[in-house]
Amino acid sequence: MYFIANWKMYGNLKTLKSINKVIEFSKRYKNKKFKIVYCPPYTLLEAFSKKVKKTTIELGAQNCHFEISSGPFTGSISPMMLKSIGSKYVIIGHSENRSTGETDFQIKNKINSSMKSGLNIIFCIGETLQQRKKKLTNKILKNQILKGLPKIKKLNKILIAYEPVWSIGTGIIPKLSELEKNITFIKNLLKNNIKIKNSKVLYGGSVNPKNVKNLASIKNIDGFLVGGASQKAKNFIDIVKKTII
Ligand code: PEP
Repeated sequence: MYFIANWKMYGNLKTLKSINKVIEFSKRYKNKKFKIVYCPPYTLLEAFSKKVKKTTIELGAQNCHFEISSGPFTGSISPMMLKSIGSKYVIIGHSENRSTGETDFQIKNKINSSMKSGLNIIFCIGETLQQRKKKLTNKILKNQILKGLPKIKKLNKILIAYEPVWSIGTGIIPKLSELEKNITFIKNLLKNNIKIKNSKVLYGGSVNPKNVKNLASIKNIDGFLVGGASQKAKNFIDIVKKTII
């Protein structure tokens, strides 16, 4: 099971120390099979990198530019830059970035160069409430997957984060039956259209210590992408504990 902490645009050098408790926790439960990845804002990547060195916790970034190494792109960070600072993962296609103009084409190029640089990808997909009401969920997920994934080898290393936009930060989660159906749809699509046999699909959207046990009971779920609840160490640890113990 994967547990990805997405700190979004929160956190500073003071709040960084909350990771200490998570490091202690991961040492205590090192015999259990789980992977924790922290995705802090760019400003904290270096400090996080030092903290998680020699632990089982891994580091990720929340976005990157599609240019693999460097170029005249003011304010952007490339996959190779992320790699050089100790990042092993990068989130791509988050709905908060799609909603401010990120296109499937840009996402495809970002995935392509991130894979070439050796980063692991956390590829976010998900429908809006309006699309769900119009029963367009499958169509939207299919489009996002087929347009966002480049035609390259090693795609089987990509983690898919299924995040219904209407669940992010709202406290509303899908019914378990709906979630299971959508995860099955995604896995079948990856298997039949892209030849990825053992895909990993995580769920994201208002996951918290209270609802995680139920969510984790879904048989084909491979982990969680956690936003708000990952900012407090206790909440995040509880989420992991309730899933793996
Ligand atoms: C997210 O932003 O990826 C997310 C899942 O947020 P939250 O857990 O706060 O809904």
